[in-house]
Amino acid sequence: MSQSNQNSQTGWNFDNTYARLPEFFFTKQEAKPVRSPKLIVLNESLAVELGLDPAELRSEVNVAVLAGSGLPPGAEPLAQAYAGHQFGYFTMLGDGRALLLGEQIAPGGDRFDIQLKGSGRTPYSRGGDGRAALGPMLREYIISEAMHALGIPTTRSLAVVTTGETVVREQGLCGAILTRIAASHVRVGTFQYAAQFGEPADVRTLADYVIQRHYPQLATLADTGKDGCYLALLREAIQRQASLIAKWQLVGFIHGVMNTDNMVLSGETIDYGPCAFMDAYDPATVFSSIDRQGRYAYGNQPSIAVWNLSRFAESLLPLLHDEEEQAVQLAEEALKGFAGQFEAAWLQGMRSKLGLFDEQAEDAVLIKDLLDLMHQHHADFTNTFLALTFGRLEEPAMAGASEWSDWLARWRARLAGQTESPETVRELMRRSNPAVIPRNHRVEEALEAAVERDDYSVMQRLLKVLAQPFAHTPEQAEFAEPPAACDRPYRTFCGT
Ligand code: AMP
Ligand code: MG
Repeated sequence: MSQSNQNSQTGWNFDNTYARLPEFFFTKQEAKPVRSPKLIVLNESLAVELGLDPAELRSEVNVAVLAGSGLPPGAEPLAQAYAGHQFGYFTMLGDGRALLLGEQIAPGGDRFDIQLKGSGRTPYSRGGDGRAALGPMLREYIISEAMHALGIPTTRSLAVVTTGETVVREQGLCGAILTRIAASHVRVGTFQYAAQFGEPADVRTLADYVIQRHYPQLATLADTGKDGCYLALLREAIQRQASLIAKWQLVGFIHGVMNTDNMVLSGETIDYGPCAFMDAYDPATVFSSIDRQGRYAYGNQPSIAVWNLSRFAESLLPLLHDEEEQAVQLAEEALKGFAGQFEAAWLQGMRSKLGLFDEQAEDAVLIKDLLDLMHQHHADFTNTFLALTFGRLEEPAMAGASEWSDWLARWRARLAGQTESPETVRELMRRSNPAVIPRNHRVEEALEAAVERDDYSVMQRLLKVLAQPFAHTPEQAEFAEPPAACDRPYRTFCGT
């Protein structure tokens, strides 16, 4: 069978709108062929959603595509330019080890970036080798898919292939490439790049692109040339981040490296480097070995989001108003909206976790008191809510404390004031409190089996359990166990 024949059977259906932007925004770039590509994991259900045939994706010609050694028909690969604040310091960045193959148009008409991560050097690689190691790519695969299953907007993972090459880190590691699927890869840092190194016209071009692609409801406003559309874009982007960060907080997800280049305008979670899920509840939790100041600690995530969005707003200033002072005032007002939007989304989510259908003024205090108790007693975040869901009230670390009985009495009284039946309440709690999260020791165990022993069965089992976090099956119980004391404190590394 000829290559193009096989490719059309695969279902590749590319468009390349990003490649139509001015060349200022990217560099056209072929991937570098790798020695011997081997498919390690393929996300079959995601493939189907994208209109791709999983069996065809497993063929030699498509495994070469997933390794950057061949191109699907219609792809126009490029490396994207962007800048960003990393731990507060502005730097020129860009895709140093990633290639955007193009945009796959799924059967329903939705558009998805297909990006290879670990595909070789680009003009933006700086000192890096452009490559990635198997462990970190599998880690991104596992956690991004877990986030998706938890109902949190995120980039997704289609496949991981090994390259047959060694990447040199502190030691020689097995090279790998992740195929990442995203609504797009336009970052706050892409706007910073345009604002810093381009003209206001470039910022406008990018803003128009983002409106068309992610905020089509603003497109008519943009078409009529009304300047208000850029303020509306800022407001909507703020709203999406407020909603996203609330979802992170509600499952104890800690991103770990919320640099402005790792915040995307689509509102998806992106860049699974040193991220991890919190076990015991503590707002100061940090896992990343490089986050020495705790800048990206769990409890700081909402305020860091505002910091990042402020950098986005700064980039947009020339589009907001001709007078800079006025533009700043408009931006500041929009940014002030974050706190209320975040709080509302978070409170709503917390109410659901506690089985509360209606809103009462005292809910915020009820929730705060629960979190304070959890913090004080080092109670496991996920499992405390599971205990409440299933009435295992003696389980949390604070069981036995009189404050716990007092709190439970207040919670029960609050539930009794609702008209919903206990069954309906439990149902809401079941779908609001995951049975499993990707616990660090479980992820490590799966990665170790894969990387050290070439055994992918541990990871496959973990992926299966994480794919339905609200199923509450007996099989999931062992995955809900928090880590043993010897596995703490857990540390993550950037994994480049
Ligand atoms: P990240 O920490 O993944 O957000 O990456 C930050 C920046 O470093 C981005 O510009 C990446 O493309 C770049 N980068 C990370 N690892 C490598 C690598 N091995 N080679 C080249 N560039 C890299
Ligand atoms: Mg990044």
